[in-house]
Parts: sequence; structure tokens; C-alpha cells
Amino acid sequence: MQKAISSPTDPIDGAFRLKPAQRQGLAKLGLKTVRDLLYHFPSRYETPAKEKAINELVAGETASIYGQVLKTKISLAFRKKIPLAEVTLEDATGRIKAIWFHQAYLARKVAEGQWVKLSGKVTMRQGELYLANPSFELVSEALPQLAAGTSLFHEAPPPPTNLRPIYPETRGLSSLWFEHAIKQVVGAGLLEQLIEPLPESLLERYHLPPLREALALIHYPRQEPEALAARKRFAFEEIFFIQLERLKSKLEYESNKPYQIKESGEEIKDFLGHLPFKPTGAQERAIETIVADLGRPEPMMRLVEGDVGSGKTVVAAAAAYTVVRSGFEAALMAPTEILARQHFDSLIKNFIGDNINIGLITSSECLKFPSKINRRAATQISRPQLLKWVANGEIPILVGTHTLIQKGVKFKRLALAIIDEQHRFGTKQRAALVKKNVGAAPHLLSLTATPIPRTLALTAYGDLDLTLLDELPPGRKTIITEIVAEAAREHAYAKVRAELKEGRQVFVICPRIDAPDPLKELALNTKSAKQEARRLAEDVFPEFSVGLVHSKLKPADKEAVMADFASGEIQILVATSVVEVGVNVPNATVIIIEGAERFGLAQLHQLRGRVWRSDNQAYCFLFTSNDSGQGSERLRAVQTAKNGFELAELDLKLRGAGALSGGKQWGLSDLGMEALQNLKMVEAARTEAKQLLEADKNLTHHPLIKERLDALSTKAIHFE
Ligand code: ADP
Ligand code: MG
Repeated sequence: MQKAISSPTDPIDGAFRLKPAQRQGLAKLGLKTVRDLLYHFPSRYETPAKEKAINELVAGETASIYGQVLKTKISLAFRKKIPLAEVTLEDATGRIKAIWFHQAYLARKVAEGQWVKLSGKVTMRQGELYLANPSFELVSEALPQLAAGTSLFHEAPPPPTNLRPIYPETRGLSSLWFEHAIKQVVGAGLLEQLIEPLPESLLERYHLPPLREALALIHYPRQEPEALAARKRFAFEEIFFIQLERLKSKLEYESNKPYQIKESGEEIKDFLGHLPFKPTGAQERAIETIVADLGRPEPMMRLVEGDVGSGKTVVAAAAAYTVVRSGFEAALMAPTEILARQHFDSLIKNFIGDNINIGLITSSECLKFPSKINRRAATQISRPQLLKWVANGEIPILVGTHTLIQKGVKFKRLALAIIDEQHRFGTKQRAALVKKNVGAAPHLLSLTATPIPRTLALTAYGDLDLTLLDELPPGRKTIITEIVAEAAREHAYAKVRAELKEGRQVFVICPRIDAPDPLKELALNTKSAKQEARRLAEDVFPEFSVGLVHSKLKPADKEAVMADFASGEIQILVATSVVEVGVNVPNATVIIIEGAERFGLAQLHQLRGRVWRSDNQAYCFLFTSNDSGQGSERLRAVQTAKNGFELAELDLKLRGAGALSGGKQWGLSDLGMEALQNLKMVEAARTEAKQLLEADKNLTHHPLIKERLDALSTKAIHFE
């Protein structure tokens, strides 16, 4: 027996009769309860097309028709390059053809005899009317069925609206399915049972509609502004709760006792005196701030955000040096073995010198510096030996990958935990690292080069204090960035060849690993890394060695290719965006990015940073198949933006919330991402969250908020 809809906490599965595909779809979208359904918001609204009979259609208008499928056909058009789907439809009054380019799979979704609804533009060609790329619904399947025994409406159904909500779909669940399901939930009177989570004073202060009203408006707006008001409210709510969660965990961490490190001034003077270069003003300020933090009675939680090559490592090294000279220990975690090794070497060579022991731990090796035999070199040691020396404090600086947070690793007095490229780690891993100490909470220092807009930084990193390194070391040449149209490809290759002949190395970045299947996907002119590696090796640069790296390779193979590139054995490395962070091959001076318009601007900048690591002039060629419109405007922004932050803001403006695609990685919904366009809103949400926690630290007076937060933190916001 299935239940009727009676409470917002009912599982959707009990309230509706579901097919297996629908059940999977709901799981994929993370929708479990009836309440979740109500929070599945439309992504946009449509003014419904006029419904017409086929013989009433007129060229140029937009209309909806119902009909039965007579025939379906898939073919390749335009010199067999573009897949074309055709469906012939019939109703009582006549017949019409619908045509889709690039969406051949649509024709496969229907069989002859099925009923469908098509909405789109009526077009005339060679005296015949047809529908071009219409939207498409299977009519009989789309409607959700209520479980037996449920009466449809306990009260009046939602008011008729002028706008039609369009919901994010997934396989098995169409927008129409959501529209009907949500109508039934609302009709069953469930809105009445929901409790407003936001304090009333807050709703008033920011003119936000209360919960029930906002839900009705977001699903059934009469006009666009009603929907916008509701969206604003939910966006605020989302950001507010994330801020609360972040700030609360900050407060909780700060309530621990750290090792208080009173720096005398001598340590830092020593450190700066031995540097191979003069620190920039930004580096000096960052070091000063951090050293002050180390002396405070609550543990530091700080993020240093600096563009690629801005010199974050020296800031981390200064902190580690201070801690170690004061008799404590420091750990430095990096996302890849290559990066960890790089840090180990540069701490020894550039920063720490030879009178402090340093260890390296990764899944494949353990090293200790200095070796007993050669005081200037590192030596391999066994893992148990390394762990013993770390545990008794003899090796006070330990560098490593994720291996650092494994169980066996113990410190004596870990006072500082440093995380490089912190966006590559999850909050759980961060927590695991700081938990490495029992007696006191380590100070936490995170480093990232991912330039993200300020609003996102405030939200995703809301628990961290922010230090910007907004200055590059002097003398760095700007990268020459060129946008290359297809016609100029050979010309660009000539330049690349000249650099290769000089002994330099080249990255070639492709948007995808495998070639697209033309019958299944819309993927025009996108080069695949596999194909491109073959083409370059065989046809374009046969005299040079070409390597290939992408995410589907096994970790060991990946590292091997990277090592060959680092050693110069591979001269041209074809890759997907897997090389986005950390890779440091200063001899590489050229990066070619294929299908450049397919990458986010911040991502392009990050990729370009791979060749921004030496005194040599570096080049970035952005290959584009698209010479006009948005694509070029965005690429021109890459060409002209002074730094990553400027670019990140531009990206957000140009592409909107979608720019930070995969926003889910920050724990944000699409709506939350939209909110990031609004600095005032984000700041207001943050201020309100702060004030609420200051007044009621444990949320004793806000039980509803507490309950919601507890649920949020078990969901965990991921930073990967
Ligand atoms: P990132 O911020 O990307 O981690 P790194 O710390 O790796 O940057 O520094 C990039 C390069 O710049 C390194 O080779 C480093 O030695 C050098 N560098 C850092 N700071 C300075 C400086 N103030 N003057 C000159 N070179 C510097
Ligand atoms: Mg770095």
C-alpha cells in the first residue's frame, strides 16, 4: 500500500507511483522528500505557446501542437557532418514535420504511434511548413500519477498563471513531471505545514517574502518580478545558512587552544636574510600578518590567495620557519606527489637551509633531509623510521601528499598545518590534518591560486580570514597571449616550432579526452586529446616527441608522463585540463589551448600560468573556431585582464552564474551561484550570520536554525 501526501517529510517514493527510471532520476538530483520537491525550483519560465491544430499553423509564429508520430528518421546533413532528426506528426487536421539539428537522440526517444506535444517556431521552406528545433514532450508518459487513495486537492489548486515553470530535468523526469507533481503537493495543502526558518526581523529588513508566499511565487509567478522576489529570498536564505555554517565551524575551531608562538623578531630577520630574492611588499605584509596570528590565543585560520606565480611558497615557508625555530612542528600538504616533491626541494634549497631536518612522505617514497652521509642532500628512509622521527620531534617539518593525514602519522607538537592548492582538498581532509595534534589545535594556513570572485571567496571560504598576494615578483614578463583563428593555425605552429628548436617545451590543452560520437553528441570542432596527440606526432611535429596525459590514465602512468615532461624527454605534452594546477616545468614556454571558448576564463588563466614560471618570454595561443560574439569577447578578456582576480570578476559578469560551472563543488545550488553576482547580498548575509552567532553562539534561541545547520554540516561542503 502506498501512502498519501500528508507531510513535507514524506518520501516522494511513497507519495507518487514511480517508475524505476524516475526513482533513479530523483536519486540523481538528490530529491528524497516531498519537501525537497518543493525546493526543486524552476530554472526559468516560459510564456506558454499558443496551442493550435496543425492546419491552423502560420509561418513565423511560435505554437504548440499535439499529435501522433507517423514516422521518425535520423540522417546526416550538410556534407554528412551534422546529425539531423526528423519526426512527422499527424493530428485530426493535418500533418507536419519537425526537424532537429544535432539532437538525433530525440528521434530515438519516440516510436511511431506515440503522442507528443511539440512547441516551437513554425518555419516555411520550399513552400512547406515545418517546426524547427521545437521543444518536445511525450504526452502520455509525462504526467505523474498519485498513489491510490489520495485525493487530488484538499483545497483550491494553485491559481492559474501566465508563466509556465521550466524545471531542471534529468533522465526519466521531465519538466512537465515536476510541474504536475509540485502542483499536487501544493494542492494537498503542504505549504501550510512548512515553518519559516529565517528570523522575521531579517525578512523585514531585506524585504524578503516569507517562506510560503515565496514558494508559491517561485513555482507559480504571474509575472517575472514575482519570481525574482522569491528567488532573491531563497538565494539569501542559502547564502545565509552557508555563512552561518562556515562561521560556526570557525568559532568552534577558534575555541580550541593553539600553541602560542611569540616571535622575537630574530627568527623572521634570519629567514628574510637568507632568501634568494627580495620579497615583494605583498609577501612581506602577508608574513607579518601570519606571524602576528601565530602569537594569538586562538588558532589561526587563514587563506592566502595569490595569482599563479605570486610567490605563495615563501609565505608558507616563513610561517614554518618561525614555528620550527620556536621549538614546534609544521606540516605541509600538497595535492600531488609532483608538487609535494617540489616543495620539499625548494624548502631545502631556498628557504629553510641545512640546519633543520625536513621529511617528505608520499605513497611511493619517504625522504629525509639532510642525509647523514651528505649534509647537503636528502636520502631515502623507511616509512617507520620517518614516522618515528616525526613523532618524537626530530623531523620538525614534514611535507607530503594525502599520505600525511593517514593514521600512522603522529606529531609531537604540531603547531602549524599548511595546505597548498587548498581547493583541491575536501573540508574533511583539512579537518583530518588539523586533528593530527592532540594537545592543541594547530594554526591553519591555506594557499590557493584559484582566482575566484570575492563573493564566492566570502561564501565558500567563509570560515577563513583572507590575505591577498596582489603583487607579482618584479621582472616577470607578461605572457604574450594570442587569439588564433583556424586560418592562422599554421602561422602559430611556426612560432611553436621555433620555440621547440630553441629547446623549449610546449603544452597543448584539449577540451576532451575522446572523440565525440556525432550521432549522440553536439560537439562541433572540439579536439580530443587522444586524436590531437596522434595528429601532432604524425603530421605536424614528427621531429619532436609528443606525450599524452588525461584523467583516465592510471595514477602511476600519469606521474610517469609528467616526470618525462619535467625531465624534457617529452617535448610536447598534449593534455586535458588535468594539468591545471601545480605543474611546474619552467622550461615550457608555450601553451596552446584548443577550443579555448570551451574553458572558463579563470581556468584559461590557470592553464596559462603553467608557462609563467621563468624569465623566458612565454606564449599562450588560444585557438578558437568562433571568431565573433561572446566567445571572442571572453577570450579578449583573457588577453587583456591584468590578473586572475580581474578575470574571475569578468567571467562572472560575462557568463553569469554558469561561469562557475560545477558550482555544486562549492556546495551551492544554481540559485546560490546566481546570488554570487550580488556582492551586497552576500555581504548582508554574512553580516547577519555573524551578528546572530555573536548574540547566540550555540543557537539555543534559534532551534530551527540549529536543526537546519546540523543537516547542512553533515552534507559537508566540498572544496574539490
Ligand atoms: P605560487 O604563488 O604560484 O605558489 P611560487 O611560490 O611557486 O608561486 O613562486 C613562483 C616563482 O617565483 C618561484 O620560482 C619563486 O622562487 C619565485 N619568487 C617568489 N617570490 C619572489 C620574489 N619576491 N622575487 C623573485 N622571485 C620570487
Ligand atoms: Mg604554489
